[in-house]
Amino acid sequence: MKDEKPSTDTIIFLGTGGARVVVANQILASGGLWLNLSGTEILIDPGPGCIVQSTKRKLRADKLSAIILSHRHLDHSGDVNIMVEAMAQSGFKPNGWLFAPADALETEPVIFSYLRSYLNGIEVLQEGKTYSVGNVSFSTPVRHIHRVETYGMLFKTAGHTFSYIADGGYFDGLCRSYGAELLIINVVFLEPGRLESGRPIDHLSLPDAKHIITELKPKVAILTHFGTSMWRAKPWEVAQGLSQETGVRVLAARDGMRFDLSQLE
Ligand SMILES: [Zn+2]
Repeated sequence: MKDEKPSTDTIIFLGTGGARVVVANQILASGGLWLNLSGTEILIDPGPGCIVQSTKRKLRADKLSAIILSHRHLDHSGDVNIMVEAMAQSGFKPNGWLFAPADALETEPVIFSYLRSYLNGIEVLQEGKTYSVGNVSFSTPVRHIHRVETYGMLFKTAGHTFSYIADGGYFDGLCRSYGAELLIINVVFLEPGRLESGRPIDHLSLPDAKHIITELKPKVAILTHFGTSMWRAKPWEVAQGLSQETGVRVLAARDGMRFDLSQLE
């Protein structure tokens, strides 16, 4: 007899590393986010090592309904091919959808052409559109300021809302677009900075995250996707400080951390 488990909504962090140095050295893992939303399983941003991080935790790719790429950068898409193959049981059982921005699929696709037939289909992410996967819907409200086409996501489940604010520099559109009970924010830098060219770096820094949290006042905010400066500053201490400053419960994600959305109730 099979026991039906009570349906729960969980987010598992298969990695919390971001940007080149942390990812290239695997100082922190880079496997993305694995969602289980009342039984619908979705993988976001399978960076390098996703297959290792997920199988190690007995997460089964053949249970996935979809893989979503926020953008084509390697730390978000490095393992997309193996994850598609695993989702479709090596092509024996075509399964699942891939969602990605057009530039991840066109001139230099991040997904091998022979794997496309393993999927139920591919959907192109566009600004302002809403998509559904099983009983879950998500929208990609705004294009981010990043070197390649990039979207974050706002998820709606039966009971909860949460946002994933993917890579990109700060602009007010982020605050306008991502209001939700839970914010997951990719915070690469401790301090705001500029590139050698003088252009602002197209990633969020800690002051940006503080501003977003203050403006949107979620029930919980989770910081992740740490670059070297954030990692050296001990993200868990940074998060504690931010909690005190903003009055919002701010957590630093840890590799393998599982967040249950019932904590928002
Ligand atoms: Zn990026």
